[in-house]
Parts: sequence; structure tokens; C-alpha cells
Amino acid sequence: MENIKHALNTLGVDLARYEGSDLHSVSPISGATLASLRCDTPQQVSDRIARAHAAFAQWRMVPAPRRGELVRLFGEELRTHKDALGRLVTMEAGKILQEGWGEVQEMIDICDFAVGLSRQLYGLTIASERPGHRMMETWHPLGVVGVISAFNFPVAVWSWNAALAFVCGNSVVWKPSEKTPLTAIAVQSLFEKAVARFGNDAPEGLSELIIGGREAGAALVDDARLPLVSATGSTRMGREVAVRCAQRLGRSLLELGGNNAMIVAPSADLELATRAIVFSAVGTAGQRCTSLRRLFVHDSVYDTLVPRLKKVYDTLPVGNPLEPGNLIGPLIDAAAFEAMQTALDKARMEGGKVHGGERVSVAGCEGAYYVKPALAEMAEQTGIMHHETFAPILYIVRYGKIEQAIAWNNAVPQGLSSSIFTTDVREAELFMSAAGSDCGIANVNIGPSGAEIGGAFGGEKETGGGRESGSDAWKAYMRRATNTINYSHALPLAQGISFDI
Ligand code: NAD
Repeated sequence: MENIKHALNTLGVDLARYEGSDLHSVSPISGATLASLRCDTPQQVSDRIARAHAAFAQWRMVPAPRRGELVRLFGEELRTHKDALGRLVTMEAGKILQEGWGEVQEMIDICDFAVGLSRQLYGLTIASERPGHRMMETWHPLGVVGVISAFNFPVAVWSWNAALAFVCGNSVVWKPSEKTPLTAIAVQSLFEKAVARFGNDAPEGLSELIIGGREAGAALVDDARLPLVSATGSTRMGREVAVRCAQRLGRSLLELGGNNAMIVAPSADLELATRAIVFSAVGTAGQRCTSLRRLFVHDSVYDTLVPRLKKVYDTLPVGNPLEPGNLIGPLIDAAAFEAMQTALDKARMEGGKVHGGERVSVAGCEGAYYVKPALAEMAEQTGIMHHETFAPILYIVRYGKIEQAIAWNNAVPQGLSSSIFTTDVREAELFMSAAGSDCGIANVNIGPSGAEIGGAFGGEKETGGGRESGSDAWKAYMRRATNTINYSHALPLAQGISFDI
């Protein structure tokens, strides 16, 4: 409790503004209540959207490189407060400290990217078919961008959206996970510090924070003042958001569940593969959208690799994520633990041999849910393997032909991340080809988790199809205008039409 107060103080958070009894932030580390907060009422949600809407009208006219300066200042705040914010992420989301700091580093990285981008919001010049004419494409700010985020990346996901949205000339309304409101409040406080240093041309309401549950998220989705809602979370949530947003012909950018696989081919470097498998499968206690969940191992290396994995799994340090040396922290809550046990029971019923998966008791943390990560050896890809269970379960299946392994990779409804370990260039290229992995991310000789911000991030099928972060993902946060300019003394019409008046 004292630690939370200390971290919040260091981050300059005035919690009194948010205190109440509607929503409780519960520590996944110990099960203790960290803080009790009030939720925004529907009227307050609407008022916040109105403020963001008014802010947009001003902000869109601030030159983009100047908008980048605000994001640069925010990045500086993050650098200064990386330790405290990373600790807070660990305390509220339960990931190990190194991952808490890593998440803040991702925020810093996307700020750097967005600052550069603020001078590169390029349009096109297009050859016109008409004499004395020029065509071009201009990218304009879009409006108020709604961001709905999940508990497992409580701050990075907002920054992937917000840093781009701000330099693109938009305002942002954020509805964070009801499981991690404190980290969101801390980020809002750091953003306000950056705004104070930036000066008068950052309007009030540029970044609005909404505290609440699903209903508050749904209020954003239904509000026609938001041309874009970017929502990260479960596929169940995405289905609701997509339909509701489409009903008002709004745009949604969806980053939903993953069910990520790796293929270990005969020529694989097994040392590298082992490290990649372990980190991808157990990092964040299997609670990453890109966590490795399915492993297809070639017959010729199965009996070397799988016993080695079991040995490593038996020695993995599970415990309080604030203590150095622990690699695996807790699951987020009791429901996550029950979901894991249910999935393991199903795996057994489907003929799987399960290694690990039991609850681990951690001294002083008896109210929390720590588990030994599980390996489940399956004879084939069975029903349970088609579902994302947000816990450290790795299903392993033996394969003979690469085409079979790729078919299994693609046979699930999700399409986020995938990887292959091979030193055979033909296999690697096949995996990345049009006939290869159908995921948004297809890696060679690294695991499926831990994307860099420079690339566009997101996945296909039930993962929702959205792309965030690097490459040209910024275009989702702008509207495109096609301009045709006539500098001639005639009026030639398109489609060869001619008429006299
Ligand atoms: P969740 O779906 O329970 O909640 C996510 C957010 O959506 C929360 O803020 C919640 O309040 C809100 N929400 C829920 N129902 C809503 C509705 N009907 N309308 C509007 N808002 C609604 O997810 P979670 O348990 O917090 O996170 C875990 C899930 O998120 C996993 O499936 C994981 O794969 C996914 N995830 C995906 C990515 C990605 O980039 N693809 C990243 C992180 C997490």
C-alpha cells in the first residue's frame, strides 16, 4: 500500500480527484485493494467528449511539427518517470519489473517515432489525365479518437494510439481497463505536465480520461462525435464494438485476441529456439496478446527439444514480480486462474499429457494467483487449441511435413502472430509467402511476442484486422482528401464528357 502511494506521489498524481467507491484497483501481486475510485457518470462521459471535441477544433490548426513538440515533451516526462511508472505497471498489472519498465520504454519509443512522423505526414502528387490539371492527396486530422485498452498492456497501448493521434492533429478520449485505472491516471498526470510545459496552444481537453467499466467503453463506441474508436481487448469485446460502431458508420480499429504458434523445423538452432519458446510462452505469465500458445515441432527434433523444455520449465522462478530474479508473476485474478484450469482439464480430456499448471503458493501473497506454467503434449491440434486462454499454457504437437505445420498454424480463428525456427531458406520463405502464415506478424528465428514499434502491429481474422504503431499505421488516424486543381483556361471534363451551353 505504501509503495503504491510512493509511486503515485513520485508521478505527481492527485488521487483525491478520482477517489470514490465504484471501482476497486486490486493488486494481482497480493490480492489487496490498492485504491477505490469513482466511475464517470454517462453525463460526465459526454462532457469529456465535448471537451475533447472543442480541443480538436483548435489542435487541428496547430502545425504538425509543433504538435510533435508536445509529444517530444511527453516523451521526456516518460524518460524522467520511467522507474516509477514501470513500478506502478508491475503493481497494478502484475508483470515483472523488467517488463513494467519495458512497457514504458515502448511508450518512449513510440513518442520518438511520432515526433519524426510529425514532419512526414506526406500526401501524394498524382498525374492528372486532363491538360493543365494537377491532382494530389492531402491528409487531414480526423477528430476525437476513442481509445479502449486492455489490462495486460495498461499504458503502452494507449501511447501507440495517442502519440500518433496527437501528431496527426486529433484529440483523444481514453477508457482504460477497469482492472488498471491507476496506471492510466498516472499517464494522464504526466501528459498534463507536458502540456503545462508546452504552452497555450495545447487546448484543454486534448487528452481526456474516463474511469469506468464496459458501459463507459460502450458510450464511446456509440458516440457519433468520435469518428474512430481504437479498441484493444478480447474478441468478445471486439465483436460488440465492431457492430455498434458500424451501426453509426463510425470507424473501428480492432486489436483483439491472438493464438500464436511457432514451428520448429529440422534445421532449427535449438538453443535459440528454446530461449525464444520459453520467453514467448511464459513472459507476462502468458498474458500477452502475442504469447506463444501452440508449438509444432518436427519429428526429428521433438525428442531432443521437448524434454529440454520440460527441464527448463521445472526451474522457472515464479513469484512476486517486484522481487528481482522472478521471471513469472501472477495471473491477473481468480477468473484467469479458473479459465486456465478449465482449459487444462479439456486438454486432458482431448488426450493431452499436461506438465505443470498447478497453483504456486507465494509467501505473503496468499490472496493472489500464481501458477507453474504448463506444457501440454497433444497428439494433434484438438478443439481446445483453437481458443485463446489468457494464461501460460503451451500446447505441443509433433509434425512431419512443413505444409501440415503451416496448415495447423492457419487453422485457428485468430491471426495475430507466428514464427518459424529454421535455417533452411526455402522453409523460411515459404512461411512468409502468400501460401505461408496468415497472421499479421510472421517471424523467422525469433519468437512471436515482443514486437518493435517501427512495424505496423496487428492481426487478421478474429484478431480484428487493425494496425497500430509504426509503418503507415498513422493513416488510420487521419482523413484523406483528393484534390484536383485546374490551372488551365479550359474545363475538360472527366470520362470524355462534352456539352455546350
Ligand atoms: P476485455 O475485452 O475484457 O477488456 C478490454 C477493454 O474493453 C476494457 O477496457 C473493457 O472495459 C472494454 N470493454 C469490454 N466490453 C466492452 C464493450 N462491449 N464495449 C466497449 N468496451 C468494452 O480484455 P482484457 O481481459 O482486459 O484483455 C485481454 C484480451 O485483450 C486478450 O484477449 C488479449 O489477447 C487482448 N489483447 C490484444 C492486444 C492486441 O494488440 N491484439 C493487445 C493486448 C491485449
